Amino acid sequence: MLQAKVNQLLTEPACKHNHHHGDKKNRSCSQQAKPGSAQGGCAFDGASITLVPITDCAHLVHGPIACAGNSWGSRGSLSSGSNLFQTGFTTDLSEQDIIMGGEKRLYQSIKYIAQNYQPAAIFVYCTCVPALTGEDVEAVCASAKQKLGLPVIPVMSPGFVGSKNLGNRLAGEALLDHVIGTGEPPTLGKFVINLIGEYNIAGEMWYVLPQKC
Ligand code: SF4
Repeated sequence: MLQAKVNQLLTEPACKHNHHHGDKKNRSCSQQAKPGSAQGGCAFDGASITLVPITDCAHLVHGPIACAGNSWGSRGSLSSGSNLFQTGFTTDLSEQDIIMGGEKRLYQSIKYIAQNYQPAAIFVYCTCVPALTGEDVEAVCASAKQKLGLPVIPVMSPGFVGSKNLGNRLAGEALLDHVIGTGEPPTLGKFVINLIGEYNIAGEMWYVLPQKC
């Protein structure tokens, strides 16, 4: 399922960089991350920097502690309300979980966050280890969503599937599959302005907001 999605995302006929140039293929769009050298730039990292700016949600990294440690705090956001996004959550998988399976640990982590932090939703990032051991992260999320009564969104972005850029797109797929179209937003008023940024919307806001003397 994930492989099919990755293949689909890497096939972009409308992208000029994805075309053949003379005899040579431009491989930059389908470049795979190299094991051992993907730190800080893997697909998981790309997915997390895309979604972590959703400030009132919990972002749970399902994997060894280093996955969360490598990426935490790399993406800021602006919020006039909740700052829950700044809390780093991880299932902190150990050798024991690799042998026995980490699905129960994942469910307990989701339950703990739901009961103690009351997030609007929980994003669960699947990293390399649970993907390699074959855990059904999507099924755990679906079960938790039903039992706990809040959106639990799997983000299938293990680092080995590709680059940070591919992770950005996998995050978008998670939103398309599990969020967009699931509800109507509240009516906020007559004149609502959406600010859509390319990368550093928080930094750009410094130039827009009134300066304090
Ligand atoms: S998801 Fe994989 S490549 Fe990315 S930080 Fe974790 S172990 Fe490394």
